[in-house]
Amino acid sequence: MKPPVGILTLQGDYEKHRQAFEALGVETFGVRRAEELEQVSGLVLPGGESTTLTRLVDRAGMREPLRRFASELPVMGTCAGLIMMARSLVDEDREDYGVEPLGLLDCDVRRNGYGRQIDSFTAALEIGGWGGGKVPFPAVFIRAPRITRIGPDVEIVAEHQGEPVAIRQGRILGLTFHPELTRDVRFHRAFLDWVHGN
Ligand code: GLN
Repeated sequence: MKPPVGILTLQGDYEKHRQAFEALGVETFGVRRAEELEQVSGLVLPGGESTTLTRLVDRAGMREPLRRFASELPVMGTCAGLIMMARSLVDEDREDYGVEPLGLLDCDVRRNGYGRQIDSFTAALEIGGWGGGKVPFPAVFIRAPRITRIGPDVEIVAEHQGEPVAIRQGRILGLTFHPELTRDVRFHRAFLDWVHGN
């Protein structure tokens, strides 16, 4: 049997990711401790509160284990999960964040980048056949970050208003929106293909 897909279950909307994988008939494993990373073949960092999540990761001694994991196996970070994976935050954010992001994906982000007045919205994204099908992906943005820089090895998967909102570096996928909040499981399916080595 293939090892299950892990979901970091320290904080945030991990339950919705579990349901998305369940809809695809795939078992998941809630990861809370560094040792548990050894039992999974890919990991999702969910949305939630990135400051809290990063602090909890540090408290659990998982920073280095997560970096090692991401250098070998697929990781998908959504919204706060992407913020955690960033190399750096824009200067205005750094002080209140209080910790360094994990640096799993070569990008910089601005938290709550769309401002308060429109802190939640949906947009139909062109995802160019990702996960099958050509119809636009219904992306839900909730106090979403904005990607302000991407490194040379980072590929843009989808854009919104001319800015990247889905990016990948190898098998590390970062989304500024919440694919787990709609029934469209194409990103989860594409991620599973990486996890299962397709
Ligand atoms: N704004 C949140 C943060 O900075 C992210 C919001 C989300 O994950 N929906 O962590």
